[in-house]
Amino acid sequence: KTAAALELSARTESMARGGGRMPIAMDQAFGVTFKDPDGNTFIDLSAGVGVSSVGRCNPRVVEAIRKQSESLMHSMEVNSSKRTELAAKISEIMPDGLRGDCITFFTQGGSDALEAAVKFAKRVTGRHQIIAFHGGYHGIWNASNALTTGTAYRKGFGPFMGGVIHAPYPYAYRFPFDTSHKSAEQIAGEYVDYLLNTPYTAADDVAAVIVEPVQGEGGYVPPSPEFLQILRKACDRSGALLIVDEVQAGAGRTGKMWAVEHSGVKPDMLTFGKGIGGDMPMAGLVMRSDLAAKIPDGSQPNTFAANSISAAVALTNISILQDPRLDLVNRAHTLGLEAQERIRSFNSPWVGEVRGRGLMIGIELVENRETREPLSREKLGKLMDYVVGHGVLMIPCGRYTNVMRVMPSLTIPRSLMFKGLDIFGAGLASL
Ligand code: PMP
Repeated sequence: KTAAALELSARTESMARGGGRMPIAMDQAFGVTFKDPDGNTFIDLSAGVGVSSVGRCNPRVVEAIRKQSESLMHSMEVNSSKRTELAAKISEIMPDGLRGDCITFFTQGGSDALEAAVKFAKRVTGRHQIIAFHGGYHGIWNASNALTTGTAYRKGFGPFMGGVIHAPYPYAYRFPFDTSHKSAEQIAGEYVDYLLNTPYTAADDVAAVIVEPVQGEGGYVPPSPEFLQILRKACDRSGALLIVDEVQAGAGRTGKMWAVEHSGVKPDMLTFGKGIGGDMPMAGLVMRSDLAAKIPDGSQPNTFAANSISAAVALTNISILQDPRLDLVNRAHTLGLEAQERIRSFNSPWVGEVRGRGLMIGIELVENRETREPLSREKLGKLMDYVVGHGVLMIPCGRYTNVMRVMPSLTIPRSLMFKGLDIFGAGLASL
């Protein structure tokens, strides 16, 4: 190993093993590029796992932090004006069904938003089971880890909270059932309808169906709108709540403010996080006002939730997302289509499928396009070395860690995105 490589591994070795580790460190960030401690510049196609929607260290965000830090930072014990202002703003930008008539419950991160979602859904409905999906990621706490599937998160750590039923997600590329007569969305949706509404299954005891409107960690899988529409009807028939987890797909990334809006479905609750907070810890749960009224005071306290700096930054972040001069959300849609086209134009034999919505794009890498066998660990390692070694940060996801994500900040200049993608394409060609 070179001295530089040893130094890098020392950097990652000093991190606890629970989190993910990349052989790279970040020292200074400027929008959609950053420098490592040796002064090398990288193009960032990962945006802090979708967090930095308006670019890292956005000057408007930096100014909001400075200004807010001069008047109020922490207030758990009483409400604050910034938190109130943010709750009103969030209500205004919610999808149909929640907009204007909802209550926001703030948390620090996505996992605790999902904890609250499970707890509140049980309390509101008086039921105790939850339906979630294979490949879903909702966090790593008690309830949220019980919803999350995946060996790394679960094996050796159980048992988790009981009462979770996992159903197939319509991941058409790797769907285990015959789709010659019905789409994966129809089959997966009807299966949930069957669970919810048939005696001897889970009927009458399911509090909620919790679903990512575009599956994130499970492989960047956007279902057709029909899937959520079937889930909505099935929930209505059974009295279960429909909760959409927008922690990764929300905040404009998919080309709408919320990914559920692609389907026209009205959710009962919505969780948000990552991209809403302008790089500060900010997440939460939004629910219909009539549901919120049934939740007892003081049943889910959270010391650091929505401190005033996070709230001020989130307000700034949202105003940048809504700035008509930047038009970032619509831009995510058009830029995303262009990115997908560029990736397809590489014509690489290792690319099994390119899919996504807006700037939430997954590139599924395979050994063989016919058998769809996932790309080998060895080739994935080589590809990552090439891409990072040539100054681009991309991070994989998916059930076989073989899906490369393209999820840059929504502010990324077109030319820089293509430059990053072309380096990735050259990496593919080098395999
Ligand atoms: N839900 C979804 C859909 C996520 O992608 C994530 C994070 N990857 C979480 C919840 C958990 O969020 P956090 O890491 O902020 O706890």
